[in-house]
Amino acid sequence: ASLPIKDKALLRQQCYIDGQWVNADSGKTIDVTNPATGEVLATIPNMGAAETKRAIEAANAAWPAWRKKTAKERAVLLRKWYELMMAAQEDLAIILTAEQGKPLAEAKGEIAYGASYIEWFAEEAKRVYGDVIPGHQADKRIVVTKEPVGVVAAITPWNFPNAMITRKIAPALAAGCTVVGKPATQTPLSALAIVELAERAGIPKGVINMVTGSATAIGGEMTGNPIVRKLTFTGSTEIGKILMAQCAATVKKTSMELGGNAPFIVFDDADLDAAVEGALMSKFRNTGQTCVCANRIYVQDGVYDAFAEKLKAAVAKMKIGDGLKGETQQGPLIDMKAVAKVEEHIADAVSKGAKVAAGGKRHALGGSFFEPTILTGVTQDMAVAKEETFGPLAPLFRFKTEEEVIKLANDTEFGLASYFYARDIGRVWRVAEQVEYGIVGINTGIISSEVAPFGGVKESGNGREGSKYGIDDYVEIKYMCMGGI
Ligand code: ADP
Repeated sequence: ASLPIKDKALLRQQCYIDGQWVNADSGKTIDVTNPATGEVLATIPNMGAAETKRAIEAANAAWPAWRKKTAKERAVLLRKWYELMMAAQEDLAIILTAEQGKPLAEAKGEIAYGASYIEWFAEEAKRVYGDVIPGHQADKRIVVTKEPVGVVAAITPWNFPNAMITRKIAPALAAGCTVVGKPATQTPLSALAIVELAERAGIPKGVINMVTGSATAIGGEMTGNPIVRKLTFTGSTEIGKILMAQCAATVKKTSMELGGNAPFIVFDDADLDAAVEGALMSKFRNTGQTCVCANRIYVQDGVYDAFAEKLKAAVAKMKIGDGLKGETQQGPLIDMKAVAKVEEHIADAVSKGAKVAAGGKRHALGGSFFEPTILTGVTQDMAVAKEETFGPLAPLFRFKTEEEVIKLANDTEFGLASYFYARDIGRVWRVAEQVEYGIVGINTGIISSEVAPFGGVKESGNGREGSKYGIDDYVEIKYMCMGGI
């Protein structure tokens, strides 16, 4: 399959280690397919522990020179990388849609969003400030500096094949760290394409390395190798826990962006049209495959039926199809396993009394396309209340009081994003303060931005990405105590 991209060299099918484009030692490859058509787009190397070890050693060798550069020198290179990404936005979006399935307009948005982290951290590189603390004895002076943690390993998922990588690599590089990355096997082409641009931007060899292949072999080396000082991961809570346990043996720092189970609450005093629009964006963006997607929609008794009707009307207008074609608003799911999960949640809810108000089945387009679905009469004993669906399923729960819904919203081991719609200012503060989530969207369904700290509490992980806080995950604090003054 040939993609309609202008810059053909962006479609890299080799990994990048120590400034070289390389194949797996075994010569083995893995096919990358288009989820909308099932066709093979490219092949990528099937690497394992040995290649990963070499990448880690290359990153370690590149580290001293990289950290010695001035912040401004690193910033200039990052800025150049950002500019090359924006100049290639269209091509990068086509590659992203082809391997991931999201509509081209969303993919373009993701490229700009992903690039914005590089722009932001190019600027933040210059603001890694320390402290001077008044000494505790007359002859002592205390200085606190911040240093790069060292070699960083980054493992990323398929739902945002571009942005999940840049929001790890950009702060790492800005802080003076070097990186070995592993993209998801479903979506490696976006990762390799941006590494090609990093090379063109002049980022020195060894500073960024990218390997593809066996997740367990690569992950095992990344977490077991003592050279790696930090693992940053975005993916499922299940795998995150395994990786944290593996990192314990060498006490690595970790940043974990794990699963969510976002509540989306609509109170009686909400602007209902705005709430419907917010729910639509939060729920169906990327076909419901984001860790901040609304997973449980709680609607207050007085507006429940009206909200359900309006949401149904909005969903009926959605255009489903191949993301590369025309006006598609919802692409396919990533694979058939994802379809099975949505079907399981629907079947479980219906067996316990929920009603299908819209959709509810596979789309006539076939493959992994699924109809945008609304369930009404959903209750807390159903699987959708406990687990992340990661698909286009909007379950509507009915509630009566503010106190009740706060309890329901917090009744989960997850704590990433939450949303609510209300106009009463007292209620806005009360609810915002009581929901146990790292992110609260108030009268909005869209919360992601490079200028704000993204991250969760409870089993949704640790660390924050983006904003002035994002660089903290990649620095160590050093305290110098000077005596004898
Ligand atoms: P998702 O449900 O988004 O696929 P995963 O947590 O399974 O979430 O995958 C996220 C990333 O973690 C992917 O890059 C995947 O290849 C990688 N991964 C999966 N299992 C392991 C593992 N045991 N060790 C290291 N990485 C893994």
